[in-house]
Order: sequence, then structure tokens, then C-alpha cells
Amino acid sequence: MIQAATEKKVLLQVDHLKQYFPVKKDSTFKPKTYVKAVDDVSFHLFEGETLSIVGESGCGKSTTGRAILRLDEPTDGKVYYSGKNILNLNKKEMGKLRGDLQVIFQDPFASLNPRQTVKQILNEAMAIQKVVEKSKRMDRMLELLGYVGLPPEALERHPHEFSGGQRQRIGIARALAVNPKLIICDEAVSALDVSIQAQILNLLKNLQKQFQLTFLFISHDLSVVRHISDRVMVMYLGKVVEIAEKKALFGSPLHPYTKALLSSIPVPYPTLKKERVILKGDVPSPIDPPRGCRFHTRCPFVTKKCKEEEPELRELGENHFVSCHFAEELV
Ligand code: ADP
Ligand code: MG
Repeated sequence: MIQAATEKKVLLQVDHLKQYFPVKKDSTFKPKTYVKAVDDVSFHLFEGETLSIVGESGCGKSTTGRAILRLDEPTDGKVYYSGKNILNLNKKEMGKLRGDLQVIFQDPFASLNPRQTVKQILNEAMAIQKVVEKSKRMDRMLELLGYVGLPPEALERHPHEFSGGQRQRIGIARALAVNPKLIICDEAVSALDVSIQAQILNLLKNLQKQFQLTFLFISHDLSVVRHISDRVMVMYLGKVVEIAEKKALFGSPLHPYTKALLSSIPVPYPTLKKERVILKGDVPSPIDPPRGCRFHTRCPFVTKKCKEEEPELRELGENHFVSCHFAEELV
């Protein structure tokens, strides 16, 4: 296990994670093919930080989050938490960890049982993880509602009686109910109006401080990511192309793909104006990704080397990693 060169404590370490999904064969004679959704991804999360994963739809963000939680069993790799590779834990051991590792999805409608009241939803979460004894659960539920800004009356209502933002607050309360350490937020505010987004992001930030939470924040929306992150990881076609602290990533991005993503944000970045990168074409299929650098088919700076050799993730600035053969020359 590689420890990051800093005093901050690493809460979770992902090493060489791979998630390949078999593709249904249309003929028994064809060789088995796979969607390489996540293909050799490594990163770590410091305790108490927010690391965001960004990238276009289909680049493997959700799959990375799901693999960490073992919602899908990863094809290969290791995920260290509390010094243990959690991919080796049996069902019972993993069950104990479920409280520590929580998830909030984009659509709380899909993850909140429509037939349950908020009281039943929160009660069930606490009962499964055995975090609060029965006699104290009512007090705890009221406390949780307070943390997420919902009134006590919310307890007797069902998810459909709430607005989108309020439903997301219920999802957050349910995650908090089991005293989590890490919360994976997968497009948690993407379905909300911008003003509501800001409220939920601020709520998450406040709760993070209050409870020393660590967030893995998955989003395709760079304005949201700019608001909430400490560090940002950019993915393209199942690979990490760049990881850096937020300021460095937004202020001096190194990968041509990151530059292209940033130049599409409505808020102008004066430093980037001169070298706007407009991407041509579509993202290639993750079933048969391009050889060499996966981005080479869309990169304006492509060379022969890019088509042949896969670039490694290299540290070019303090805690600033990029996988591009020519990152130094393109600055
Ligand atoms: P993102 O969250 O970045 O939009 P995903 O992680 O959902 O991307 O998907 C990455 C790739 O993996 C996509 O090509 C997607 O179609 C594919 N994929 C995701 N889940 C499955 C699955 N269960 N079976 C087959 N392919 C999948
Ligand atoms: Mg997704």
C-alpha cells in the first residue's frame, strides 16, 4: 500500500481498481468482450476532505464509487480502508463496514422506499447497523432532522410529499443516521435547481465540518465541483487523466482533456482564454478503447507516441498528477 507523502491521514486507498462488465454475445463464436468501465484506477482519500471525480457521462465515475462500496464486485484491484483490503472481506465483515461507508444518489426517489414514512426509513437504517438502541431512536431521529433542516412533522410523511431538495435532505439524514466516515455522493445535486443545489452543497459542507466526514463527490458538473472540492480527479474512458488540488486543477490544468472540460464552463477563466481546446468527435467505446493514450483520438496535440504508448500518471507539481506524455510542453 502506497502512503501519500503528507501528514494527512489516508482514510481510503484505491489501488489498480478495474471493473470490466461482460457484454452479451450476439454469437457463440465471437470471443467474449468487456466494457472496460474502470481500467486501472488508483487514488486515495484523506480523512475529512472532499475529492471530486469529474468527467463526461460514461467515463466510469459511478462505477468507481459502486466498486468501492462493492455494489458491483470489482474485477481486480484493492480498496484499503482502516488498513484492510475491503474487497477481501466476507459478507459479515463487510456488513459491519456498511455504516462507515454511505452513499447518496442523484435520485432519492429511487433509493427511498415510497411506501415508508421518513420515520420508518431512518428507523430501518439505525436498526440494520444497530447504532442506537430502540428507546433512544426517536430522539436521534429528531436530532437528525434538525441537522438536515427538516421539521419534526417530516417523520410521519412519505418521500413523495417532499420537494426534490427536501428528499435529498432525507437521503442525507439516512446516511448520517449510521455515523458514517465516508459518504460517496453520486450526482447528489445534479437533478436539483441551481439555488437548491447551493443549499444542499452548503449543508453537506457544514455537516462535513461538524462530523469530520470524508466525501467522494461524483459529478459531471464542474461548477458544482468547484464549489465543494478540496481535490479533483478527472476521468476519461475508465482512466484517471489528472488529479490535483482544486486551485491547481482549475487555475493551471495540465491535461488537454481537463483544459477542454474547463473551457466549456460558462464562468470565464482568463488564464485559459488563449488556449481554448474544443473537443471534436465523440468519446470512443469503452469496449474497444484506443491504444496508447485513450484520449489521443480527440486530442488536438496528438503525436505518434500518443497512439502507441500509454502515458503513466506522473507528478508534475506538488500533489498534481497528470497522464500525458507532453503535459510539460503544452503548459
Ligand atoms: P459515469 O458515471 O461516469 O457516467 P458509469 O460509471 O455509469 O459512467 O459507466 C461507465 C461505463 O460502464 C459506461 O460505458 C456504461 O455504459 C458502462 N456500465 C456501467 N454499469 C454497467 C453494467 N452494470 N453493465 C454493463 N456496462 C455498464
Ligand atoms: Mg454516473
